[in-house]
Amino acid sequence: MTNIKTVFKKDKFFEKIEALGLALSYGDVRLKTSHSEAGPNEVNLASKFSRQVPLNAPLISSPMDMITEHSMAIALALNGGLGIIHRALAPKDQAKEVSRVKFHLNGLIERPICLESGQTVKSVLKMIEEKDYAFHSFPVLDGRGKLAGLISGNDIEFCPDTRLKVAQIMTKFKNLVTAPGGISLKQAFALMQKTKKKILPLIDKQNKIAGMYVYSDVKRIVTGGSPFYNLDEHGNLRVGAAVGVGQDALERAEQLSDRGVDVLVIDTAHGDSRAVLETLKQLKQKYPKIDVVVGNVSEAESAERLAKAGADGIKVGQGPGSICTTRVVAGIGCPQVTAVYNCARALRGSDVPVCADGGIEYSGDITVALAAGADSVMLGKMLAGTTETPGEVFIRNGMPVKQYRGMGSLAAMQASAAARERYGQKETGKDKLVPEGVEAVVPFKGEVEKIIFQTLGGLRSGLGYIGAANIKELQEKADFYYISSAGLSESHPHGITMEKEAPNYFGRA
Ligand code: 5GP
Repeated sequence: MTNIKTVFKKDKFFEKIEALGLALSYGDVRLKTSHSEAGPNEVNLASKFSRQVPLNAPLISSPMDMITEHSMAIALALNGGLGIIHRALAPKDQAKEVSRVKFHLNGLIERPICLESGQTVKSVLKMIEEKDYAFHSFPVLDGRGKLAGLISGNDIEFCPDTRLKVAQIMTKFKNLVTAPGGISLKQAFALMQKTKKKILPLIDKQNKIAGMYVYSDVKRIVTGGSPFYNLDEHGNLRVGAAVGVGQDALERAEQLSDRGVDVLVIDTAHGDSRAVLETLKQLKQKYPKIDVVVGNVSEAESAERLAKAGADGIKVGQGPGSICTTRVVAGIGCPQVTAVYNCARALRGSDVPVCADGGIEYSGDITVALAAGADSVMLGKMLAGTTETPGEVFIRNGMPVKQYRGMGSLAAMQASAAARERYGQKETGKDKLVPEGVEAVVPFKGEVEKIIFQTLGGLRSGLGYIGAANIKELQEKADFYYISSAGLSESHPHGITMEKEAPNYFGRA
């Protein structure tokens, strides 16, 4: 797997560190600057989370119950990254979160929810409420599954009697504008503009429903969309979801794949284990088209073993997380920069990307993680406390805050079997848990977009200083300094009293 012919500048640095028996983390190193041809705004931040899942920005939100549900995943994908929906949710609720991300832009709704012409309006209202649908337009099918008409929000709202049948209030097929399945987003946009139709059902040769476009979404993508959005081939936002091992993973994968999830993440504290390898094999066999990222590991041979077993991406990080106590509770783990370097070096020359998960405090740490060999970074604390995280804002000591907790914290493990399983304590009683994380509050930070903007700005700046036009060049050109604690102090603001928080610096941890 290792392409030993590819030697980078940084290899010598890490070999010397290894010879001393040392391992390094973010606070231990800085990157050397170098001649630059391109300014920060010219650098390209495109990367990959897994073999087939590209990124326009190398940021991934962590599958934690206080970080990633649909709002965070939507924000990440709109900003070029990717959110991984956590698994401390029932499988059907997790799948619903994936759907909400996929429905957000609705380039092409491949399998629109349809009504039957014989059902009553009352039953439609009940379905909308039960399923919590945010939309009110539905194709209507006849008894043979052919398109019979269309129901809009207005048809439902102005319906005089909910006992009426759908067929009695719908716009009939002969009055509809339809298009053949396979029509592109741009063609659909042009047709809807010309015919002034807000919904465009797509049909096959037998008049069976083959998809649907919604004008507001199509317009947003075609005219207001950004080339930076992380979109799948249908124009929908990309999203990932976490699974555990064994039956849990299979059950979740079935529902998640039904909703069009782009990537599954086997999310465990010890990725180099038999249960994980078996689950990886089962998932790849059953869903060969869906990428499976596996973690977490921190040693080269573990990364190699998982990649050989078919992993489409490797997640690195055992114990670096801000809310994590594994290193002190269990006494294991490799400091994160060395862990990322070793795993990435083991996979160099393969097409399996590495995600550096945990321990990122500042945007500069992201430059360091990518320079060490990661293709993306996974963030918890940096995104915690934003509007898009699950949970309420509350007041602590007069300041607005939100909760952030480790998935191995007592509260998270008591609340969720998935969290207990992540730390190998699924069978343990709720009163006999050994936590590997803590519970915290963090200041309320407002919208996550501001954090992402600053984070990517810092990363762009880093690439500019190193003279790297893109992440691949950063990985190839980067070279490191080991810094002393005096060097670290010098790196932070010092000898002054900070008067105001900067938008990208919240003090020293
Ligand atoms: P952060 O960005 O906050 O430094 O780290 C987030 C990462 O920490 C998560 O993506 C996950 O890998 C890891 N993590 C989350 N909860 C826990 C926990 O309770 N214990 C440990 N050991 N790691 C955790």
